[in-house]
Amino acid sequence: PVQTQIGLMSHEELVAEHERQSANYDRLKTEKLTLDLTRGKPSPEQLDLSAELLSLPGEGDYRDAAGTDCRNYGGLAGLPELRAIFAELLNIPVENLVAGNNASLEIMHDLIVASLLHGTVGSPRPWSQEPVVKFLCPAPGYDRHFAITESYGIEMIPVPLRDDGPDTRLIAELVAADPQIKGMWAVPTYSNPTGAVYSEDVARALVSMPAAAPDFRIFWDNAYAVHPLVEDCAPAIDILGLATAAGNPDRVFTLASTSKITFAGSGVSFFGASADNLAWYQKFLGIKTIGPDKINQLRHLRFFGDADGVRAHMAKHREILAPKFALVLRILEDRLGASKVASWTEPKGGYFISLDVVEGTAKRVIALAKDAGIALTGAGSAFPYKNDPDDKNIRLAPSFPSLDELATAMDGVATCVLLAATEKALAD
Ligand code: PMP
Repeated sequence: PVQTQIGLMSHEELVAEHERQSANYDRLKTEKLTLDLTRGKPSPEQLDLSAELLSLPGEGDYRDAAGTDCRNYGGLAGLPELRAIFAELLNIPVENLVAGNNASLEIMHDLIVASLLHGTVGSPRPWSQEPVVKFLCPAPGYDRHFAITESYGIEMIPVPLRDDGPDTRLIAELVAADPQIKGMWAVPTYSNPTGAVYSEDVARALVSMPAAAPDFRIFWDNAYAVHPLVEDCAPAIDILGLATAAGNPDRVFTLASTSKITFAGSGVSFFGASADNLAWYQKFLGIKTIGPDKINQLRHLRFFGDADGVRAHMAKHREILAPKFALVLRILEDRLGASKVASWTEPKGGYFISLDVVEGTAKRVIALAKDAGIALTGAGSAFPYKNDPDDKNIRLAPSFPSLDELATAMDGVATCVLLAATEKALAD
């Protein structure tokens, strides 16, 4: 049945609506579900797409084209052939891109720690010797980015994220005025969690704007660069080229990984930056390790072959993921569209849908869902300090559950959204 707009109901209508939604919710609880929409993990079916990796490179295959014996130490920058594949996909010159171990998050963490302890290229002193270090955080954003900066006492300043990237006018004002703003998080393609894709204009503004801190850094985390849910992938912006053209060649640290291409946790990470930034990074890297896991890099190289191999592989992921996203969007529209108690993003790629419910009810929705056996990402987790000022945002991660589980879970979520909305309207 079509819901009337809750905000327009009389008190009697509201009481009746609340009874209806409570009854729906009680029915939901009797189903004793255990469903999980919390993290953006690939499903087992997606992991199976890379099954061949488990038998690559195979006995006897351990040299790359340059003849390097991948079984041995060394090769800090990673295998040149694999770097070339991702250089093409990420639109970064191969000499500016290094391949690492299994997690780009680890590189981001290390970049922050090294900047704090030693300062980075152009730093007047180590960041830790500043009275306070601040980062701009487009929000909603990725909770694990915010966890890194929070854990090191870096003050996080939220900035609104729009469909084409963050508000660059606001950012320009902030970074021009405050030398303590040393960095900014960014997920430029199919962002976590809204699916926003930064426009080239936004990218150019970010690398061009005057910054009071000479060592202002943008952490350009292109985790979903090749992860479209539609036929055409958003092109990777030549961010290092734009930064160089703007006279700020060292402003950008770019990151990516195959975590959501092959095996999450056993993929290959990438770091791209100016020659000076790379030399700075490799100085610390060379102390931390004698070299990356080149066998893992070699098996990825054999598995993909070339950049088109990656694109073809991502098309198979899309076949699995796109119906899941379509299902979530259809249930949201069917259950919540008419009542106008929620709005949501319709991402063209990535791993998430960002759902905004009635202000002041996100925590309640998540608690209701939990009691009904549906785990949702913690309230506020897409905001710095987990502080969603409007208590309205919920991140949905449709990738892991099966279609049947997803349908059940989303129907339950919609019931919780409606119940929380009617409770709130009655209380107001
Ligand atoms: N960045 C973003 C934006 C992500 O969503 C994720 C995975 N959820 C990561 C980084 C983690 O990447 P990795 O596995 O390479 O550490």
